[in-house]
Amino acid sequence: MNEELEDRLARVAALPKVELHMHFEGAAPPAFIRGLAKEKKVDLSGIFAPDGSYAYRDFWHFLEVYEAATSVLKTPRDFARLTRAILEQSAESGVVYSETFLSPDFCGGGDVGAWKEYLHAIREEAEACEREMGITLRGIVTCIRHFGPDKAKPIARCAAETAGDWIVGFGMGGDEKVGHQGDYAWAFDAAREAGLRLTTHAGEWGGAKSVREALTQLQGIERIGHGVQSIDDPALVEELAERGIVLEVCPGSNVTLGIWPKVAAHPIAKLRDAGVKVTVSTDDPPFFHATMTREFRDLSEAFGWQEDVFAQLNQTALAAAFCDDATRAEVAKRLG
Ligand SMILES: [Zn+2]
Repeated sequence: MNEELEDRLARVAALPKVELHMHFEGAAPPAFIRGLAKEKKVDLSGIFAPDGSYAYRDFWHFLEVYEAATSVLKTPRDFARLTRAILEQSAESGVVYSETFLSPDFCGGGDVGAWKEYLHAIREEAEACEREMGITLRGIVTCIRHFGPDKAKPIARCAAETAGDWIVGFGMGGDEKVGHQGDYAWAFDAAREAGLRLTTHAGEWGGAKSVREALTQLQGIERIGHGVQSIDDPALVEELAERGIVLEVCPGSNVTLGIWPKVAAHPIAKLRDAGVKVTVSTDDPPFFHATMTREFRDLSEAFGWQEDVFAQLNQTALAAAFCDDATRAEVAKRLG
């Protein structure tokens, strides 16, 4: 690598960062989950590779491993400890603001009372971390698509009951190939009526038409998780740009799961050139050997992007963040 490139990558890596798309349990460092499994005497050896990282064959096996890892997270205290482990990891990458997908399915099984206890523990720890590390966390309650529409309803109730200055959004993750976005309209409507802002996973695996489906079958969607398959439909790309729909793009995740062979082949640059509002996130960082620093470096190397492009990506992400304006102004100061 030549010196000029190395200098640029080092500068880009050192920038502060705003991240909008990170699954809370999916961000759990493997060492943290291994430690918890040991404490609880649960055998999770099957989900780890010899080097200690998570081991899975493909996206669908990844979902299974993810749920197995999550199975040792049982109490509000476990989630508070996880909060610290995740925020330390993010802060190390220079992240100053992060929105994370939280699933009440994993925090009290969709019971509102239990969810409030989990949330209290997570929030308290996040606020302590904010004071110590200068990183702000906000939550997006997320239903899980392959659990089905009936399971999404109590999750939307949990979201509505805790909507406010910390739980700021509602979304859906999971297996995009199960059912249709419109099957979950009740949950999204309930969340929107409670004042929550909306994002949903589409166009990761489901093709451009799944992004159209999200925009036509659900009301008030402001951001799309991934959305990158939109690139196959030029009229859709134009519409995304015109409507200012923000894509939460996770290049490292897409490459690791084999959707594109390498970052240089990823459509993020083309989408950006077409005027689509793109942002950069890690999705489930340890599962994809991703960090925000690595995402920034890889994109700079692949597309020759300089610091000004990343500053713009940060500004797009901050403008699209679901937090209140006072928080946004605080975070803006950290971006300099
Ligand atoms: Zn995701």
